[in-house]
Amino acid sequence: MSSELRSNFLRSQIQADLKQGNVNELVTRFPPEPNGYLHIGHAKSITVNFGLAEQFGGRCHLRFDDTNPEKESQEYIDSIQEDVQWLGFRWSGDVRYASSYFQQFYEWALHLIDAGLAYVCDLTVEEARDYRGSLTEPGRNSPYRERSPVENRDLFEQMRAGAFEDGARVLRAKIDMASPNINLRDPILYRVRHAHHHQTGDAWPIYPTYDFAHGQEDAIEGITHSICTLEFEDHRPLYEWFLDKLPVPHRPRQIEFARLNTSYTVTSKRILKQLVDSGTVAGWDDPRMPTIAGLRRRGYPAAAIRHFCEEVGTSRSDSVVDVAMLESAVRDHLNHHAPRAMCVMDPLKVVLTNVEAEEQLTLANHPSDASQGTRLVPFSSEVWIDKEDFREEANKKYKRLVLGKRVRLRGAYVIEADSCDHNERGEVECVYARIIPKTLGEDPEDGVKPKGVIHWVSAPAGVKATIRHYDRLFTVPNPAKSDDVLSVVNAASLREIHSAVIEPALVNAASEAVFQFEREGYFVADRYDHSAARPVFNLTIGLRDVWGQQGD
Ligand code: ATP
Ligand code: MG
Repeated sequence: MSSELRSNFLRSQIQADLKQGNVNELVTRFPPEPNGYLHIGHAKSITVNFGLAEQFGGRCHLRFDDTNPEKESQEYIDSIQEDVQWLGFRWSGDVRYASSYFQQFYEWALHLIDAGLAYVCDLTVEEARDYRGSLTEPGRNSPYRERSPVENRDLFEQMRAGAFEDGARVLRAKIDMASPNINLRDPILYRVRHAHHHQTGDAWPIYPTYDFAHGQEDAIEGITHSICTLEFEDHRPLYEWFLDKLPVPHRPRQIEFARLNTSYTVTSKRILKQLVDSGTVAGWDDPRMPTIAGLRRRGYPAAAIRHFCEEVGTSRSDSVVDVAMLESAVRDHLNHHAPRAMCVMDPLKVVLTNVEAEEQLTLANHPSDASQGTRLVPFSSEVWIDKEDFREEANKKYKRLVLGKRVRLRGAYVIEADSCDHNERGEVECVYARIIPKTLGEDPEDGVKPKGVIHWVSAPAGVKATIRHYDRLFTVPNPAKSDDVLSVVNAASLREIHSAVIEPALVNAASEAVFQFEREGYFVADRYDHSAARPVFNLTIGLRDVWGQQGD
C-alpha cells in the first residue's frame, strides 16, 4: 500500500466528518509552545496536522501557544517557523499567537464569573494541593468558593489591574471538587504573574492556563479537529466544558493520538534544554540533537523525516520506535538522491611511477541516476588512499591494495603495488605502484583482474577538510528513564578529524548538500562552518547499520 494511502484512525474520522457534513472544510493547527526548539516528536505532529490538511484540501494554522512568558523567547519563535517551513509545510494565513486573544479570554473569564461559574480563590499553593484530594479521595470545596459574582468580578478586575503579588490569588472554574477526573476539580483559569511577555510586553499581569486557553484558541480560529497527544485525553471533558459554557463562535473537536518516541533519543524540551545549558552539546542545533534543526544540520533530508513520520503510522497506544527505522529512511533517501564523491579520511600516499601528466577523468555523479550528470576528477602521479586500504601482505579476504597485487582506483585505473617506504616507527609511509595501461573502464588485457575497488584523491589537487564523525548521543535505549540523563551521554559521540582529503570539486559544495563519500558514508557540508577555504563535512549516516556490531 502506498504510504499516501495508508489509513489511520484520524484520517477515517475526518473522512466521516466531511462525508456526514459535520464540517465543510478541515481546519487543523500545530500549536507549539515557544519554549524550546522542535524535535522529532514535533515533526510527527507537524506531518499529522499539515499532512491531513493537505490531503483533505483544508487548512492548517501555525499558532504559538504562548501563555507562559517566562520560558518563552523570540529565538524559539523564529526557529519553529524555520523548522516547519524547512520540513516542507506552509501554514494558512499569518502566524498566530494565543497572546493575541488575551483580551477575549479575559472577557470570557468575566462571563464565567457573572454566570457563577468561576471564582477568585486565595488558597496558597500548598493549601490548594491539600484541598484538591487525590486519585482515590475526592477534594474539598475551597472556603472562597461561594464568593458572589459581584465580589469575584471586583477581585478579578483588581487582579487584571495588577493589584496583587504573584501567587496571591487565582481565578478558578467552579465545576466539581468530587469529580473522579482531577482536571475538573475547580481548575485554575488565571494566575497573577508580573512577567514581561515577548508579544504583549507588560500589558498583562495575569496569564491564562493552558486549559483555559487552548480550546478557546481553537474556537476563535475555527479549528475543526484539534489533534493532540494522549496526555490531553483526561483534559477533554474540561475542553468541552468551556465550549459548553462560553459564547464561542465555533465548536472544535479534540482528538488524541499517541506521541512518537524513538529509542536512544529524548523528546522532552526540558531535557534537551538541559543538554544545551550544560554544554553537553554545542547548541539546540548540534547535529547529535534530535531537534529538527539538529537533524537538518546532520544532513537528514526533510523528505526522509516526513516519510518516516508517515511510515510509523498514527495510533492510540504508546510505543517506542527503533531509531534505526529513522536512520534507514534517511539512508534509503540518500542512496537514491545523494551524488557520489571521494574523501580519504586517513591518507597514505601512493606514487604512481609510470604516470607523467595529470589527467582529468570524467566520473558519474550517481551510479544509477544519469540525470545527476558527471564531474571532472583530476588524476595525477601521486594519489592519496586510506591507510586501511593498503597492506604489505594479506590473505585473500582482503580485497584492497597489497604488495604485488592489483586493485582498481574508483572511476580510474587498475594499479599494482611494487614497494613501500617506512618511517622510523616502522609504519608504511609511501607506496610505489604502477597503473596498468588501458584499464580506464576496461579489465587488464593480461587477464589478471583487480581484487577490489578503493577510493582515492589526487595528492596535488586534493584539499584538506575537517570531518565530524557522529555517533548516538546516548548509550542506553531509553535515556529519559535514567535519573541523570547526563550520565548516559555517549562520551564518544563526536570525533573530529582534520587530516582528511577531499576531491577538489567538493570545495564548492553548497551549504547543506549531502554526498555519499564512496565506501565511507553520507556526509553533509556543514550549514554554518563549511566554506571553500575551510571545508567542513558532518557524517549524516553510515552506509550500513553497524550500531552494536563489532567492527571486523
Ligand atoms: P515537550 O514535552 O517536548 O515539551 P510539548 O508537548 O510540551 O513537548 P508543545 O510545544 O506543546 O510541546 O507541542 C506542540 C505540539 O506537538 C502539541 O500538539 C504536542 O502534542 C505535539 N507533540 C509534542 N511532542 C510530541 C511527540 N513526541 N509526538 C507527537 N506529537 C508531539
Ligand atoms: Mg505542551
